[in-house]
Amino acid sequence: MTRHFDIISIFPEMFESHLRESILKRAQDQGLLNVNLHNLRDYTINKHRKTDDYPFGGGVGLIMNVDPIVRAIEAVKEARPSTRSILLSPGGKSFNQKIAWELSKEESLTFICGRYEGVDERVLNFVDDAISIGDYVMAGGEVPAMVLVEAISRLIPGVVGDECSIIEESFEGNKLEYPQYTKPREFRGLKVPDVLVSGHHKDIQDWQLKEALKKTAKIRPDLLNKKIEQVDSA
Ligand code: SAM
Repeated sequence: MTRHFDIISIFPEMFESHLRESILKRAQDQGLLNVNLHNLRDYTINKHRKTDDYPFGGGVGLIMNVDPIVRAIEAVKEARPSTRSILLSPGGKSFNQKIAWELSKEESLTFICGRYEGVDERVLNFVDDAISIGDYVMAGGEVPAMVLVEAISRLIPGVVGDECSIIEESFEGNKLEYPQYTKPREFRGLKVPDVLVSGHHKDIQDWQLKEALKKTAKIRPDLLNKKIEQVDSA
């Protein structure tokens, strides 16, 4: 099944180089992914193709108008009625690998990128989700949309060559990935752990699991707590 991503932005050119490289290019070349960029200004009906205005009630900055955004969403919906629309917003739910998996199963996703001081709150009535990439504020939704596009795309079957590399990665099973090494075997006195060059498959697997849990406990204990909660509620 080809996945369709539609991206609505006042800076659609920002996506071009991102989409031209690496796995995203391959996914498109293989027909696994189809990406359409929409310039929000094409959905304005004013002479200057303006997409923003001053906030009611005063305050700094400009707010993106609801009407061109809704026209753009509706235009995408006409072509792909089942599309799931996502507003990129610092006020949305936090993006994570679980959400990436969930979204990778959708046939069509529409991403709406805000700019300036954000979008008119009424846009929320016309989208299925609002998603944040983290607790910080970006200048626009374009980079956050790229984050989602890339994280979701690599979970689409066939996009990443070796499927195992996806399953063993960080956040799968609520833990970080085990430490990885390549040549040289020693660099400035730092040696690759002996077990990894021992050739004992079972010992290597045990070591990887132990190190993944140690690393997670040290850096992201919250992930292990989630794991315990899951086991408790099972
Ligand atoms: N005034 C807004 C606020 O305080 O929540 C911030 C607006 S931000 C400067 C402009 C746009 O960037 C937002 O509408 C959104 O599309 C995008 N954006 C900024 N930070 C983001 C984040 N952490 N996650 C997703 N989108 C973000």
